[in-house]
Amino acid sequence: MDLTLHLTEACNLRCRYCYHQKSSKTMTAETLRSALALTGPSDRAAVSFFGGEPLLGRSLILEAFAECDRIRRDTSRHFMFQMTTNGTLLDEEFLQIARERSMIIALSYDGLAQDRNRRTAGGEGTAALVEDKIPLLLQHLPYAPVMMTVSPACAGLLADSVRRFVEADGFRYILFNPAFGPGISWTETDLTVLAEQYRRLGDLYITWHRQGRKVWLGPFESKIDAHIHGVSVCARSCALGSHRLSVAADGSLYPCVQFVGDPAYRMGDVRSGVDEAARTRIQATQRPQAVCGTCALRGRCRHSCGCLNKLTSGDPRVTGGEACAHERLLIAQADRIGETLYRGKNRLFLRRHYDETYPLVSLLEDLIT
Ligand code: SF4
Ligand code: SF4
Repeated sequence: MDLTLHLTEACNLRCRYCYHQKSSKTMTAETLRSALALTGPSDRAAVSFFGGEPLLGRSLILEAFAECDRIRRDTSRHFMFQMTTNGTLLDEEFLQIARERSMIIALSYDGLAQDRNRRTAGGEGTAALVEDKIPLLLQHLPYAPVMMTVSPACAGLLADSVRRFVEADGFRYILFNPAFGPGISWTETDLTVLAEQYRRLGDLYITWHRQGRKVWLGPFESKIDAHIHGVSVCARSCALGSHRLSVAADGSLYPCVQFVGDPAYRMGDVRSGVDEAARTRIQATQRPQAVCGTCALRGRCRHSCGCLNKLTSGDPRVTGGEACAHERLLIAQADRIGETLYRGKNRLFLRRHYDETYPLVSLLEDLIT
């Protein structure tokens, strides 16, 4: 079982689109240890540190490493560590430890929109603060992904931000997702701006591939992958609470991050374990709505993601209209990119999407160049 540990509900930022309820509630070491015991009996388990801002619970992360070492000695279970952070509290000492642990640190950073959307509690922009940390992050973890949240007001800054991530900062793995949730609304005009940004990003992606530059743009990759394999990664891997649990700071268990704190979706706690009746009831809600059943895009769309649905419609069974419109934009652009590179027999594209040995071979190539 994989775990997402919500170490704390506290955060040092006040991002404009943030929907997390903040408080000073922080996980105890005892709750953390009980949570990690839930990973058994699998051979491998992924542990993600999440918040609020997880680096406010830095001592808990170190505690988790020590506990996982102890479990590993007893069981041979292998742990993979991930963290999503706003980056403001990263430092050399932590990054050295993260490197020793081969931890994946995903940096939430909005590029040219950072100062407008991601601010301190005092209302100050955080661009300079985070930009200072990026060279240090990539020096220790060159494959660290950057995750940009795109708000409607800043949609026009997406393509130039991604270009900067790649060409100025040196990121290779980039994710970008629209902000959804309470108080956020995408108008037709906003979606038109976003569509144009996706077209520009598509052109950049094609150019970088023609240059042989290894840049991974997550949302495009997943739609291309779903076209090739006939089903989306989301649909293949997610079954609310079957493979991964979200653990709240108080030790309550939920099927995914979007549900944390909602009593209707609580499915046990770290002391008593998973409430199987609650899990069965919650998983029964993950049925596609009728309109998706006849849609030609359903195999490549995230309509079955209960997390996205809850965020965009309030109901895990129903995909919000804005999310549906966005999935259509993304798939159309991924198809244009995929067709262009496939027809052009682009070597990097064909290896990345059709050669199963590519991840390993690519890593070896990077090590010797
Ligand atoms: S850094 Fe994350 S948790 Fe903190 S305010 Fe921003 S989006 Fe919310
Ligand atoms: S594109 Fe819209 S209608 Fe089609 S499967 Fe996705 S959410 Fe459903």
